[in-house]
Amino acid sequence: MTNLNIEKIRNDFPILSEVINDRPLVYLDSSATSQKPKCVIDKTVEYYTHMNANVHRGVHTLGTRATDGYEGARETVRNFINAKYFEEIIFTRGTTTAINLVAHSFGDLVVESGDEILITEMEHHANLVPWQQLAKRKGAILKYIPLNADGTISIESVEASLSDKTKIVSMTHVSNVLGTINDIKAITEKVHARGAYMVVDGAQSIPHMKVDVQDLGCDFFAFSGHKMCGPTGIGALYGKKALLDKMEPIEFGGDMIDFVGLQDSTWTELPTKFEAGTPLIAEAVGLAEAIKYLEAIGMDNILEYEHELTAYAYEQMSAIEGLEIYGPTADKRAGLITFNLEGVHPHDLATALDSHGIAVRAGHHCAQPLMKWLGQSSTARASFYIYNTKEEIDQLVTSLKETKEFFSYEF
Ligand code: PMP
Repeated sequence: MTNLNIEKIRNDFPILSEVINDRPLVYLDSSATSQKPKCVIDKTVEYYTHMNANVHRGVHTLGTRATDGYEGARETVRNFINAKYFEEIIFTRGTTTAINLVAHSFGDLVVESGDEILITEMEHHANLVPWQQLAKRKGAILKYIPLNADGTISIESVEASLSDKTKIVSMTHVSNVLGTINDIKAITEKVHARGAYMVVDGAQSIPHMKVDVQDLGCDFFAFSGHKMCGPTGIGALYGKKALLDKMEPIEFGGDMIDFVGLQDSTWTELPTKFEAGTPLIAEAVGLAEAIKYLEAIGMDNILEYEHELTAYAYEQMSAIEGLEIYGPTADKRAGLITFNLEGVHPHDLATALDSHGIAVRAGHHCAQPLMKWLGQSSTARASFYIYNTKEEIDQLVTSLKETKEFFSYEF
């Protein structure tokens, strides 16, 4: 049993008091985006009320406040993921932008015709389409590490998929559909042993568990702030300094230049080299506040509590006749459950649950190749965070049973 005071945590999130269709909101869609605690909302208001100016250029007091807030946020992120240098943290719009940056800039640097790029069958489109595009640009081959029947990836499959031609391996840390937690540290060791580089999509891991990029050993790690209690529109790319130093920017303009001539220009140092234009200042300040909030709860406590919730939900939901859960058993998964209920289309299911105040996601979850692997066109997904409770899971289970009954009624 958790030692956390979940009621107190719930009180930090104003939106949880919303009433949806005459019922208290049960928010089970945090894998899509998490809710925001009051401290993050307040911090954004404080930023615009007392700090707002452009960064890096202004010598006036507000310019200094904004720059300190923005660069302070970079240090907070660096410390949170235990990166060695602040230059290794590039602020982006989120995971998608971060992976696109790697696939373009690093991909252009190291991938040549005939080389192999290795991803898995469980990837979100954000960690799939940029690699397809790179493969097309370069005449490279995009290969997939196959999944085990339970939706996990074995080290043996990784080893068997690697070849002397593999240049980049990119893999999600946690699947947004199956909930599978991949052993990035062990996989990175194998990838490096074959002379390839390791990119990690951390969108679904960093909100829920301690991430230490030096311990994982990966070369790049991408994530989004909005899934970890932060504002939308901000995320980050961690990259090893030695690699980022060699990479070319993919966006050009203000802030990232050193000298501009009529025909040619030079770039500033890291990390600004990759942050052209006015950056996401208020959003970065908000993200730093979210990190402080999560750290005060403790990432290990968050992981432990979510394991407890997920195990409970898995057991309760498995007991519903006609309900199929996709992905590994509860002990091998993060806090989400993707499922289908026999005889009810996932969109109808999500609509019926919404009428009970329960928010779940339905669709292909931006993972069409994985849907094909599952043999489904779409599924429903309930995802949990630190503010969810067992009582809410009970409500989900009751509503699922009622919905099943309703749809099996013969008129
Ligand atoms: N990867 C995974 C595993 C995700 O779940 C998501 C968000 N659904 C993304 C990447 C993309 O994140 P964003 O839309 O914030 O860029």
